[in-house]
Amino acid sequence: MSAPAYKIIDHTYDTVVVGAGGSGLRATMGSAEAGLKTACITKVFPTRSHTVAAQGGIAASLKNNTPDHWTWHMYDTVKGSDWLGDQDAIEYMVREAPAAVYELEHAGVPFSRNADGTIYQRPFGGHMQNMGEGPPVQRTCAAADRTGHAMLHALYQQSLKYDADFFIEYFAIDLIMDGGKCVGVIALCMDDGTIHRFRSQAVVLATGGYGRSYFTATSAHTCTGDGGGMVLRAGLPLQDMEFVQFHPTGIYGAGVLITEGARGEGGYLTNSEGERFMERYAPSAKDLASRDVVSRSMAMEIREGRGVGPHKDHIYLHLDHIDPKVLGERLPGITESGKIFAGVDLTRQPLPVVPTVHYNMGGIPCDYNGRVMTIGPDGDPETVVPGLFAVGEAACVSVHGANRLGSNSLIDLVVFGRATGLYLKENLTPNGTQAELPKDSADLALTRLDHFRNANGSSSTAEIRTEMQRTMSLHAAVFRTDELMVEGKEKLAATYQKMNDIKVTDRGLIWNSDLVETLELDNLISQATVTLHGAQNRKESRGAHAHEDFPNRDDVNWMKHTATWFDGWGGKGGDVRIDYRPVHEFTLTDDVEYIKPKARVY
Ligand SMILES: Cc1cc2nc3c(=O)[nH]c(=O)nc-3n(C[C@H](O)[C@H](O)[C@H](O)COP(=O)(O)OP(=O)(O)OC[C@H]3O[C@@H](n4cnc5c(N)ncnc54)[C@H](O)[C@@H]3O)c2cc1C
Repeated sequence: MSAPAYKIIDHTYDTVVVGAGGSGLRATMGSAEAGLKTACITKVFPTRSHTVAAQGGIAASLKNNTPDHWTWHMYDTVKGSDWLGDQDAIEYMVREAPAAVYELEHAGVPFSRNADGTIYQRPFGGHMQNMGEGPPVQRTCAAADRTGHAMLHALYQQSLKYDADFFIEYFAIDLIMDGGKCVGVIALCMDDGTIHRFRSQAVVLATGGYGRSYFTATSAHTCTGDGGGMVLRAGLPLQDMEFVQFHPTGIYGAGVLITEGARGEGGYLTNSEGERFMERYAPSAKDLASRDVVSRSMAMEIREGRGVGPHKDHIYLHLDHIDPKVLGERLPGITESGKIFAGVDLTRQPLPVVPTVHYNMGGIPCDYNGRVMTIGPDGDPETVVPGLFAVGEAACVSVHGANRLGSNSLIDLVVFGRATGLYLKENLTPNGTQAELPKDSADLALTRLDHFRNANGSSSTAEIRTEMQRTMSLHAAVFRTDELMVEGKEKLAATYQKMNDIKVTDRGLIWNSDLVETLELDNLISQATVTLHGAQNRKESRGAHAHEDFPNRDDVNWMKHTATWFDGWGGKGGDVRIDYRPVHEFTLTDDVEYIKPKARVY
C-alpha cells in the first residue's frame, strides 16, 4: 500500500503531546519545564477543550471544611470503582491530590473560599468520612460551578511561560509506529490544509473521551476519542470500554450537565409522587450516592411509571428550597443553564433531569507514569509500548475502575499529567538523537485521509453517525440485557459496513469540516463497537455496567480488566478480539494495605 502524494512538513521534538485539555496542558508544562523540546497539538484552541465545561470541582483531602485523610479518599475511590480500579495508581493519585490542588491555587485558579480564607470544599457523591463509615465528607474544591473553566485558563496561561510550541487547530490523524514502538504522529493543519509529520521520542495522547458515540451526552461535540481510535488502528488494545458513566442530572431533552455539586449543596431528586426516592435506594448517602447508583435508581423509577412530565420519562431535581443568595454564589452557571435550556427558574421550580452519558472509565491502558500498556506476544499483561503515553479521560490508568466518583477526573488530569512529565524528565534526553522514520511512516494516515476525502458513496457522515449514536443509546444504556446487546452488536456491525459506502462532499483540505467529522466518526465507531462487545462479554454487574441477566458482581470470574482489539481499517470487517489484564491487587507503598472487596452499599 503506497501512500497518495501529499506534501509533508517535517518536525522533530523530544515530546509531542496530542491534546490541550487539563491533562495535555499539565503534561506539556512538565515536559517543557524539564528542558525537553515539546510540541502540543490540539484540534481546538486550548481553552475550548472539554475540560472548560467541568463545573463541580476537584477532589483532594485538604480537610478545610470537614475532617479528611488521603486514606479515606483512597477507600472511597476503590469502593466507587467497584474494586476494578488499580490500587497502586489510586494510592498515587489521592496522595498527590492535595499538592496538585495547591499547585493550581498558586497557578492562579480562583477557588471559592471559606471565611478563614482557605479553599472552600463541597460534598460530592460517594465521598464519605472515615473509610465509608461516616457522613459525607467535604472534599471537592470548587471555583463556584466553573471549576474546569478556571483551571483550564490558569493552566493555559502558565503553559505559555514555558518554551513549548503549540500547534493549534491541527488534527492528529494517526500514530507513527515502528516495530511496536511509537515514534511520532501525523497531523493535518485544518487552517491551510498542510500535512505535518512529527518525529518524537515520546507521544502523549491526551485526547479526552468518546462520549459522542451516544446520541445524548454532556460531552462537547469534539469528544470523539481520537486517541483511542489511533491506538486501535495501531493494533493496540483499549481497556474496560464497557464502563460508560451516566451522570444522573443531564437537563431533560438538552443533555446539558447540572453538576453533582447541586446535590452537594443540598439539592434532591423527586418522582411523580413527590417522593425523595433516593432514601429507599441508598438510605445513608441518599442523593449523594455514587453516580451509577443514582442513575440506576432514576431509571428504575421511570421504568416503574413514576417518572415526571407528560411522558413520565424524567425526574425532578429540586434546588428551590435553597437560599437564592447561596445559589447565586455557588451555582451561578447552572442557574443560568436551567433558565436557558429548560426555561426553569431554579429558585422557584424543579428542573427536569435524566441520566445522560458523561464519562468514559475505559480508555488507553497505562500505568501511573502514563506509560501505555499492552499484552505482549508472550502473554505478559504489563508489556510497555515504548514511546507511547496516555493521560486524562483518554487513558485508563485505572483509577476509576468500573465507576468514577465525581470530581475525581479533574484531579486525575493534573496528577497524572504531572507524573507523566516527571517520567519524561527522568527518561528522555533533551534533543536526544532519534532514528530515521520508517519509509511507510505516513502511509496509514495519508491513505485513510485520502480515502475519506474522495469517498463518494451513498450514506452521509451525519446519517451513519446518528445511526451509531441511536444504537449505543438504546443497546448500551444504563441497564443492559444480553439480548439487547447482541442485537446492538449486529446493528452496529451493519452501520460499520456503511463506512465503506460513505459520502464526503467537500474534496478540499482547508477547513474541511466534512472530512474531519468523518475521521472523527471513524474513531468513534471503532470505540462504540469495542464498548458493546466488551459489555456483552462481561457476564456480571459492576459499577456502571448493570447487566440485568447477571445482576451481581462476580469477583471470582470477573475482577479483571477487559482488553479489546479492533480489526477495522483497510477493508477489514471490524472484528473484535477480547483478552484480560489483571487488576492490581496491591498498593504502591507499605503505608496502606490493599483494600479487600466487599459489598458496595451507600
Ligand atoms: C460537562 C462536564 C462537566 C464535568 N465536570 C467535572 C467536574 O466537575 N469534576 C471532574 O472531576 N470532572 C468533570 N468532568 C469530567 C472532566 O471534565 C473530563 O473528564 C476532563 O476534563 C477531560 O480532560 P482531558 O484533558 O482528558 O481532555 P479534554 O479536556 O476533553 O481535551 C481533549 C483535548 O484533546 C484535543 N484533541 C482531541 N482529538 C484530537 C486530535 N485528533 N488532534 C488534535 N487534538 C485533539 C482537543 O483539542 C482537546 O484539547 C466533566 C465533564 C463534562 C463533560
